Amino acid sequence: MKKWVFGFVVVLLLIGYGAAQHKPKVVIAELPKVVIEEPSKVNHPVQGGTPQKNGHTIAVTKAQIYKGDLLLVNKEHPIPSGGEESEEASLSRHGELVQGFALLDNSIRLSPSLVKKFATMIGAAANDGVNHFIISSGYRDEEKQDELYQQMGPDYALPAGYSEHNLGLSLDIGSSIAEMNRAPEGKWLKNNAWSYGFILRYPVDKTAITGIQFEPWHFRYVGLPHSLIMQAKNMVLEEYLDYLKKKKTITATVNHQTYEIHYYPVSNNTTITVPENGRYEISGNNTDGVIVTVLRDQDA
Ligand SMILES: [Zn+2]
Repeated sequence: MKKWVFGFVVVLLLIGYGAAQHKPKVVIAELPKVVIEEPSKVNHPVQGGTPQKNGHTIAVTKAQIYKGDLLLVNKEHPIPSGGEESEEASLSRHGELVQGFALLDNSIRLSPSLVKKFATMIGAAANDGVNHFIISSGYRDEEKQDELYQQMGPDYALPAGYSEHNLGLSLDIGSSIAEMNRAPEGKWLKNNAWSYGFILRYPVDKTAITGIQFEPWHFRYVGLPHSLIMQAKNMVLEEYLDYLKKKKTITATVNHQTYEIHYYPVSNNTTITVPENGRYEISGNNTDGVIVTVLRDQDA
């Protein structure tokens, strides 16, 4: 009920704001409903287990703990050393990638695949009349992070290697008309980013867990359905990864699609069973295991 009232107030505020700004149509869309199940007894194919019907066994190496969209990077968990080859592009030199948003300066770098996901999201925002987005920071190499750390100090920046910006999956998003906390762009993202695989990484009510002050501009890509599950359960990435580890398997149904999400600890000889149809993704958690996300056959 409280949430509903809050949503209503936000809508009223936005309508008021919209009226003052040449009446753009500002709509807070409803998020798709997520049904999460936490089966107590599950078909969780453990190491050395019997392959499931229509499944085959693959080996998971320790290196896979440190790759993927769900890596946890914070004060305790630095970016993996000697990580993946960076594919970040300088956006000012790739005008074709800069569609529907502006860049704060010419130094912004991001991977083209992440920019495309961001562009899809803000395309939806534009349909709702919200279209004054600026990217103010993207991928930072360790040198740039160190420069920032020296300038801003430990209260406002993380040391090189401990910032999500060093991972290349985060971006700082601003608005050209107001501070993000008040801007329609900030409000739209806070409500809708979850539908596009992005999460508000440092919410105001989770500072004790994230160790980072509220940052209404910092969004992180984790992919679907994880972002929607985190929103539905009001979890930040630290909590979500702990939750998966504890539950080992959950299922989530969104828009008639059911996903199975499995956590596996990874040691030297880990094998897991994955579906024959290949509709799965593996991401490490950057600590001790991998998360396997399986798209279940709709008629299964
Ligand atoms: Zn940031």
